[in-house]
Amino acid sequence: MSDARAEFAELAPPTDPRGAWGLPAPGQMPVTLALEPLVTRVLAPNPSGMTLDGTNTYLVGAPGSAQAVLVDPGPDDPAHLARVNAALSDRGARCVAILVTHHHWDHAEAALPWAEHFGAPVAAADPAVAGPRGRVLQPGEQLRLAGTSIGVVPTPGHCGDHLAFRIESGAVLVGDHVLGRGTSVVTHPEGDLVAYLESLRRVYDLGPSALYPGHGPELTQDPIAVLDFYRVHREFREQQILALLTEAAHPVSALVEIIYAPVPRVLWPAAEQSTRAALAKLERQGRVHVAREGVRLVG
Ligand SMILES: [Zn+2]
Repeated sequence: MSDARAEFAELAPPTDPRGAWGLPAPGQMPVTLALEPLVTRVLAPNPSGMTLDGTNTYLVGAPGSAQAVLVDPGPDDPAHLARVNAALSDRGARCVAILVTHHHWDHAEAALPWAEHFGAPVAAADPAVAGPRGRVLQPGEQLRLAGTSIGVVPTPGHCGDHLAFRIESGAVLVGDHVLGRGTSVVTHPEGDLVAYLESLRRVYDLGPSALYPGHGPELTQDPIAVLDFYRVHREFREQQILALLTEAAHPVSALVEIIYAPVPRVLWPAAEQSTRAALAKLERQGRVHVAREGVRLVG
């Protein structure tokens, strides 16, 4: 083994604090769960490698307001809509608005059809998601809806239009910025790792009481520890890339094969996007040169 490869092998991954939390195993999340008086979560039936147990749709509203906001309606699926309707009726609430964290289809597909169904407007950062009768959200806005206040927190990184929503209890609905299990993908070329890290910091500075992710279980025990882990995880990936490039120039595909060897191959296309996003950051910092024939260290 070369010195550089030995150095790569010795890099220790950060410990995921959630490992000790006893979170529900994959496939074991309840379909409908009241997380706190303000929030009920309904799990959509679209599980996959990328969506984990499925997309989490959240109903947010003050108890007794008889109103609720839907955050991330998810797939336009009749079974999912029936469950959302049942959860609304359990809360004695009608849907007064649909908020969307980002334009990816697993979050946004049902937005416009369900807006029609509920007679409620869509609000999102992307005008195409909000639709012709919707509302384009601005960073830092405070929305007064369903008897409560919802803060619009810009969280670009996973993709360009990503928003999180901070609710009055102090919990933050984080979409795909932070997931209930594993780590999020920084898409490439749309996503941006520098923006992603700044967005992690922005959520960190809110001192969230809980993180409610777009996929996977709610993170209530120590949200700050998860945000720290996400930041250190990105630093770890960067160190791995730099250690491999110290050895030799590598094509991106080789970096992915080596770094993500312990991860199922089905996730490699997503891993390649995160790797390219990391390389774009390192290239902007003047540390690597990315070319068709391979990636090499600069200097
Ligand atoms: Zn998603």
